[in-house]
Amino acid sequence: MAFEGLAERLQATMSKIKGKGKVSEADVKEMAREVRLALLEADVNFKVVKQFVGRIKERAVGQEVMKSLTPGQQVIKVVNEELTALMGKEESKLAVADKAPTVIMMVGLQGSGKTTTAAKLANHLRKEKNRNPMLVAADVYRPAAIDQLQTLGKQLEMPVFSKGTEANPVDIVREGVEQAKAENHDYVLLDTAGRLHVDEALMDELQQMSDAVEPHEVLLVVDAMTGQDAVNVAEQFNDQLPVSGVVLTKLDGDTRGGAALSIRAVTEQPIKFAGMGEKIDQLETFHPERMASRILGMGDMLSLIEKAQTNVDEERAKELEKKMRNADLTFEDFLEQLEQVKSMGPMEDILSMMPGAGKMKGMKNMQVDESQIGRIEAIVRSMTKAEKQDPKLMNASRKRRIAKGSGTSVQDVNKLLKQFEDMKKMMKQMSSMGGGKKKGKGGM
Ligand code: GDP
Repeated sequence: MAFEGLAERLQATMSKIKGKGKVSEADVKEMAREVRLALLEADVNFKVVKQFVGRIKERAVGQEVMKSLTPGQQVIKVVNEELTALMGKEESKLAVADKAPTVIMMVGLQGSGKTTTAAKLANHLRKEKNRNPMLVAADVYRPAAIDQLQTLGKQLEMPVFSKGTEANPVDIVREGVEQAKAENHDYVLLDTAGRLHVDEALMDELQQMSDAVEPHEVLLVVDAMTGQDAVNVAEQFNDQLPVSGVVLTKLDGDTRGGAALSIRAVTEQPIKFAGMGEKIDQLETFHPERMASRILGMGDMLSLIEKAQTNVDEERAKELEKKMRNADLTFEDFLEQLEQVKSMGPMEDILSMMPGAGKMKGMKNMQVDESQIGRIEAIVRSMTKAEKQDPKLMNASRKRRIAKGSGTSVQDVNKLLKQFEDMKKMMKQMSSMGGGKKKGKGGM
């Protein structure tokens, strides 16, 4: 998972300060020192770390007094806000041209994930925004880049404009945009060539392409796994081209998070999307606030709920969200969720979005290997309606019956009941974190 090490360290630091009813200057100093080390270890740019730590120190010492939070919680709030600000405060939206089509030019080094991201973004625009995009294959240098985009286009049933590898890339993008206009596409995504390193010839060519089609958006694609190299590359591209935003790819494999945390501060360009895997639908809109919450272990319920919403109807998702907030989920809801969960992707990713999931002992047991889901489902399906509604009914004979009915053991049944209780406890804890309305002991 992205940010694993950083999340662990910051959460450990925060848990030390969380319960404090009084935060002394020495406490803040100690916390700041630990945050600094955690960020440096996560490969965050050292200048960025220095500024960041300076700001949280200043704010944590002279903090505004808020009645609903303990001083310790206020410090966490400051860190959360500053982490969010570091990654760009708010979600940064994709440009929309006054006159269609909106032209998006993808730039970046070879292997950064440009071609894949172009297709992912086209898919996102069609699926989430109801748009009608077209792709243009202008990477004439990387062997097979054009084939790759065409294959992706076929898979998506989306048109890909190409003129082979012999044509001039400037002509390709110019004609591609013309064709998109003629065919009434509202977005056109240009996959351009990269090199292994930034060089003058590459920049010249990209500049010419940009001059020829005047893109509304120049998205710089960088590989998060390369850490500070990604930041340096971003700086170079940004200096020479009219970059308007960044797509961080391979965030799924980036356990440190240095690029994600430095790139905005260094380039002053917003991160617009994050690639979270190789599959075509593994592109996420980048939400700084949610990312910060995820890093601090406060969970990312919004992303989780959004993910659920793309798979269920909205009303039902809202109902479930309410139930989760009130921690009165039943096994019936649980079953329904399990089914959705199965269509949402790997269990681990989903769990990582839940508040406190990394720390909670119960949740560690919930690191279900996917094959177990079937067993859990069988157990729940063997319960009577009343049992599903009220697990407290469960006595030894009922458990035996359920175990028999589901082809499992009483131990398995007990384990699931325990996990379910842990989950509910966690939800309770989580609902006390949701803003200042409800006061909670543990969270913020
Ligand atoms: P290009 O040379 O910039 O066009 O790079 P490609 O689009 O061919 O991507 C290079 C490799 O990175 C491919 O194997 C992709 O499947 C992989 N890739 C791209 N984006 C992601 C991502 O978000 N996560 C992971 N794990 N792999 C990715």
